[in-house]
Amino acid sequence: MSSDEQRTGRCMCGAVAYRAKVSGRFAACYCKMCQRWSAGTFMGVHTTEFEITQGEDALTVFDSSSWASRAFCSVCGSNIYYFAEKFGGKSVALGSFDDTTGLAVSVQYFIDGKPEGFSLAESTKTVTTAEIEAMLS
Ligand SMILES: [Zn+2]
Ligand SMILES: [Zn+2]
Repeated sequence: MSSDEQRTGRCMCGAVAYRAKVSGRFAACYCKMCQRWSAGTFMGVHTTEFEITQGEDALTVFDSSSWASRAFCSVCGSNIYYFAEKFGGKSVALGSFDDTTGLAVSVQYFIDGKPEGFSLAESTKTVTTAEIEAMLS
């Protein structure tokens, strides 16, 4: 598989569809905001390009903090992406891609916040809340 490969995806109801270039890796995040948004963890695929190809008017972009926004389908509620200017490209919801073959988890953020009794079998880089707070300060 080549890097920065083009992939397509959509929300559950199909109102919103997109095209994205992906690096092949995704991150799991256990911060409290991602838990509120996605139940336990948000799994986001790093993209270098992202374009809504259908249903721009059905996409709600919500400013979840002063430096990040989150986008979801207003009809079915599916999460589409997380975006923070300082971290580059949009982080697009793994499960929304039509084909996730070849996309592998590479990092877990806020590892100390993960739900009890839940662990990935894969070994990945992990980043703690304290390490992220140090990066942001
Ligand atoms: Zn939808
Ligand atoms: Zn998070």
